[in-house]
Amino acid sequence: MVRALNFSAGPAALPLPVLEKAQKEFVNYQGTGMSIMEMSHRGKHYDAVHSGAKARLKNLMNVPDTHEILFLQGGASLQFSMVPINFLKKNETAGYILTGSWSEKALKEAEKIGKTKVIASSKESLYRSIPSRSEWGDEKDLAYLHITSNNTIYGTQWHEFPDTNVPLVADMSSDILSRPVDTGKFGLIYAGAQKNLGPSGVTVIIANKQWLSQSTNSLSKFLDYNTHASADSLYNTPPTFAIYMLGLVLEWAEEQGGTEGLERKNKEKSALLYDSIESSEGFYRGHALNGSGSHMNVTFTLPDQDLEKDFLAKASEHGFIGLNGHRSIGGCRASIYNAVPYEACEKLAEFMNSYRKNHS
Ligand code: PMP
Repeated sequence: MVRALNFSAGPAALPLPVLEKAQKEFVNYQGTGMSIMEMSHRGKHYDAVHSGAKARLKNLMNVPDTHEILFLQGGASLQFSMVPINFLKKNETAGYILTGSWSEKALKEAEKIGKTKVIASSKESLYRSIPSRSEWGDEKDLAYLHITSNNTIYGTQWHEFPDTNVPLVADMSSDILSRPVDTGKFGLIYAGAQKNLGPSGVTVIIANKQWLSQSTNSLSKFLDYNTHASADSLYNTPPTFAIYMLGLVLEWAEEQGGTEGLERKNKEKSALLYDSIESSEGFYRGHALNGSGSHMNVTFTLPDQDLEKDFLAKASEHGFIGLNGHRSIGGCRASIYNAVPYEACEKLAEFMNSYRKNHS
């Protein structure tokens, strides 16, 4: 079987050994004569899957005991609302740093709940970079400060996380588990699973317990983080199959050397593509500037739209999947999450180099 050269932005490539293990266990999980999908979420088999995934994530991301891990549903998009519903009290202001469309969406939801303030934004420069600290407004006295750690659409990434005196909230949907992170520094991290953690259907939350206890949500029991924290994410039926897959992906991540090993590989992979762009004498233009380029989503354009169209068509003929940029900005984007093999990136870099030679 030939695996596709899958550069999709999400849902994205999963590690082949994970898919194969899931396939093997699919109809008969551990000799039970049932699929894990068919089992009660309160039974002993699922219980081991649930607590196993949580323990693996805690270990891989070095989650301190001060922090809680939750498995929720609703995608990262529901977190855009849940964060302000829980933590933006009357008379308080939440701060947002805008680095792309997903941070804009997060801000829009917070505006519905309470007062907000844009602390910094790179919108005027087409989100080509992460605003430097010197460009920030005053972040004192905020209820929290929200950032998007990796900008999936524009291809920029925070390479260092800021120190701040207010709770730091990060949407890590497109780079969670791609590098070591000082998890304890964050008030709350959230991420949809479908890029680096597994299939879509589960959203991972890592939150400071003390901060969670200060939530004042009275809108809905279900939208209260504490409902899920006190029920170990089993308040209602969780997405059991997605959490099972998450556990398998985490087991695979351990075999890759954890976040250090994954980061090393991710940097090697992105270097292949950035080298092709930088050595192309302007044929390929990277969208990201000022060292803000993402190791997860490499975005670039060609000299004109006709060439771009042709490039994407030829790439598709050569078996490359998902290289078109997001529908909102066009251009090209190679998403090279943890599970995208080095060899696939090598093939893409070679293809880019030879395409340029034939067309410039
Ligand atoms: N935030 C970021 C950074 C994303 O890349 C995405 C999805 N591409 C989302 C939020 C929305 O995630 P979901 O579809 O899980 O709601």
